[in-house]
Amino acid sequence: MAETDPKDSSVTRHLDALRHPPASKPSTTTAGPVAKSGTRRPAKGADSRDRDDGPANPSNHGDRDPITPPSAASGGIPEPTAAYLVRASFAPMLRATPQPLLVVIDLNGTLLHRPQKRAATKFVERPLARAFLQRCIDKHRVVIWSSARPENVRHMCERLLTPEYASRVVAVWGRDRFGLSPSDYNRRTQCYKRLTRLWEDPVVRASHPLAEQGGGWNQGNTVLIDDSAEKARSEPHNAVTLPEFVGDMNEKPQVLTLVEEYLDTLAWQTDISTYIRSRPFTVGRSEAAVPAQEQG
Ligand SMILES: [Mg+2]
Repeated sequence: MAETDPKDSSVTRHLDALRHPPASKPSTTTAGPVAKSGTRRPAKGADSRDRDDGPANPSNHGDRDPITPPSAASGGIPEPTAAYLVRASFAPMLRATPQPLLVVIDLNGTLLHRPQKRAATKFVERPLARAFLQRCIDKHRVVIWSSARPENVRHMCERLLTPEYASRVVAVWGRDRFGLSPSDYNRRTQCYKRLTRLWEDPVVRASHPLAEQGGGWNQGNTVLIDDSAEKARSEPHNAVTLPEFVGDMNEKPQVLTLVEEYLDTLAWQTDISTYIRSRPFTVGRSEAAVPAQEQG
């Protein structure tokens, strides 16, 4: 059993922090999503730059429509459950041996950049993207999940992965896997990557190394790698949020190297949500990934 950290035992504090982020929290993006007055909004700016979502409006001279929150028919805006927050509030503890994780990887802004919004299959790869993907597939179980349309996701994966590595990916999910209503599917709707959708999926469930013995994926062993924190709104302590890749081939530091080191650290955790809550991934801080042997 994990020990409770007295400093972190207040579920209320987590809920409050998530629902009422500090007003001074810096935002690196500009245009915010549109919501009806009085309704909940996606976090400001979180996905205003996301080019995956929905088509350009032809009546808008090629400009993109603002991103709108998902309708109730699409599940609305999710929040973490109290049970999720309680489980993540425990103190991190090490395992005796590392475990494979379910690693859920975004495409646009994370592994690649599409310079032309309308040319969905033309992209530049983030430095080390292929090597990173391959090593993730070698060490973990990988799902690729993008809010781009399925045919575009397929094209991107065919470019990024050899057939041999592609055959070892657990699942490739596109825009059709968000539970969006038909109208939201065709608009620039804020998409939420609810990890529960993965945990309930038969194909993903069967990919757990101990599935036949009752093992399963859950918040203790699933990580979502995405350039948008908002996408992980329902399971924020399972998110590795990267700076958006916008085509800088001389990116320093090399973000995917840092992510790989962080994943190596997570593999030693009894419950990765406790670790991510207490030591979230950051770029540019040497303590972002703490080697397992240095932890208490
Ligand atoms: Mg993205």
